[in-house]
Amino acid sequence: MRAVAFDYRDTLAEFRWDDDLWRAGVRAMLAQAGVGAGETERAAALLRRRFADRDPRDLHELDYAAAVADVLTALGVAASAGLVRRCIEAEYRAWAPARHVHPDALALLDGVRGRGLACALAANTFDPPELFRADLRAQGIAERVDAIVLSCELGVRKPHPAFYAAVAASLGADPADVFFVGDRVCADVLGPAAAGMGACLAGWYRLDPEGRGDSVPICTEPLQVLDILEALVGSGSPGKI
Ligand SMILES: [Mg+2]
Repeated sequence: MRAVAFDYRDTLAEFRWDDDLWRAGVRAMLAQAGVGAGETERAAALLRRRFADRDPRDLHELDYAAAVADVLTALGVAASAGLVRRCIEAEYRAWAPARHVHPDALALLDGVRGRGLACALAANTFDPPELFRADLRAQGIAERVDAIVLSCELGVRKPHPAFYAAVAASLGADPADVFFVGDRVCADVLGPAAAGMGACLAGWYRLDPEGRGDSVPICTEPLQVLDILEALVGSGSPGKI
């Protein structure tokens, strides 16, 4: 094994859904568009429908700019690309209080690299990549990884096979030499395994109900990942499940 890839949300950092922040985000978006707060519920419902209408089998990443443009248009606003961009930025910033890097996340990344392994961040997100990457820099994560792979830049989400191929390529590694860590069994364990990677489930923020089997190794604290890596490197095993 030569490299480790980490999911972001509910793995290196917690993102806690909050109804008040959701409304504050929609209000911030509408304020950019010159739409009054009285339209908040209507706009929120329109946006929510865009999420709900997604086919879970469709692994193309959501075009969030198009979704926001449609909502603005429905509200009678001329949705230029610049305005859509400002709206999305305002909404993204409104969610800042919901994002928390795990206190052990940086030590975990340092521990991976300290063992001579390359490191990647590999996340599904439809947020604008520049904003997401700026957060990763501010959080000290960007400087601790060798590659950042985001679904919004690739166009496909985990568990699309192209996502894992891109992760391996970004690390200059064969998939069999990459170990994946994340909180979703489907996206972070089974998808990587199908691509030939080893994997373990991050269970410190939430325990994916699909992970309650014998075959999926589960870490209940971030630094336990280092113990697994030590054992795999020592044994020469790729950690396949
Ligand atoms: Mg996750």
